[in-house]
Amino acid sequence: MARIDLEHIKHSYLPHPKSDADYALKEVHHSWNDGGAYALLGPSGCGKTTLLSLISGLIHPSHGKILFDGEDVTELPTEHRNIAQVFQFPVIYDTMTVAENLAFPLRNRKVPEAEVDRRVKEIIEMIGLGDRANRRARGLTADQKQKISLGRGLVRSDVNAILFDEPLTVIDPHMKWVLRSQLKQLHRRFGFTMVYVTHDQTEALTFADTVVVMYEGQIVQIGSPSELFERPKHTFVGYFIGSPGMNVMPVRLDGKAAVLGSTRIELQGGASIGAGSKTELGIRPEYVKLGREGMPVAIRKVEDIGRHKIVRAALEGQELAMIVPEHTEIPGEPHISFDPKGINLYADSWRLDLEA
Ligand code: ADP
Ligand code: MG
Repeated sequence: MARIDLEHIKHSYLPHPKSDADYALKEVHHSWNDGGAYALLGPSGCGKTTLLSLISGLIHPSHGKILFDGEDVTELPTEHRNIAQVFQFPVIYDTMTVAENLAFPLRNRKVPEAEVDRRVKEIIEMIGLGDRANRRARGLTADQKQKISLGRGLVRSDVNAILFDEPLTVIDPHMKWVLRSQLKQLHRRFGFTMVYVTHDQTEALTFADTVVVMYEGQIVQIGSPSELFERPKHTFVGYFIGSPGMNVMPVRLDGKAAVLGSTRIELQGGASIGAGSKTELGIRPEYVKLGREGMPVAIRKVEDIGRHKIVRAALEGQELAMIVPEHTEIPGEPHISFDPKGINLYADSWRLDLEA
């Protein structure tokens, strides 16, 4: 296992990139700690696969260096980086049996047969294909093939890191949950450095200790699930994580208050911002309280989601969602208030630290 440092990495698929917009990855300067379990989370097209391919050596960065345990591997081809990879779709040998497919990466590296046997048995049970060990892969279903692919990624114990690129896309929802829990257990047991790419927040938040959120070719926040929830560094993190995502509304700053139309929202401090910056207030639906006091709102819609309701309302014409307990009555003259600890302030989409 290794620590992986990405030093000022930029990547463009164009031969002569000119502006920032020509880069699929803008600037990434980041370390993956030895033994860490990371999720790389972001919408389709934000650069997740590009970043993973740079680590594995499938593509060469336009700028910057990649180090494994301090050693520069930027010029090393994939096969010399000692990385295991699992892709979105199965990469297996159709003519080999399930067991042979799993044994392949080990035999390739001249692992003694007794050890091959032991590892293959262990992994085959984990992926739930114990009863199909001697069946050829060709006849199996798409999700069984993907499980073999996953198993091939996990079978070696001497890799620098295991990279997963949306590996559970073709797996059914229940098995998804099972495999994800097993990956997490495996991480606890063997301490592999794991980077798990996904566009699904639930997957990211349940798998990883540290979530790296990407947006338009940039890393916008690295944090624990609770940091991403409580203190989104960028409004995108606020929208993308949470269900529904954070409410973001345009405001004007006036000392220690944010002003929305004729409504003043007291803040825990003020902030100095540059002239012409776009200022916004962010508050998650969980921190909006519905009652008879506070700021008057118009209720637009109530959605029942089991133990909670999502209430959609308009404050000064601004759409806003709140999550309230199931049996909450909607008052005749509805008002809302914001829990001060849930308020975040943004200038040009980046979070501000308030000064007392
Ligand atoms: P993600 O995995 O987050 O969906 P990708 O890393 O695949 O994103 O893509 C990032 C950007 O780079 C996208 O705009 C995509 O169109 C572009 N891109 C990806 N692969 C190539 C390629 N081989 N050639 C040209 N552009 C590419
Ligand atoms: Mg991708």
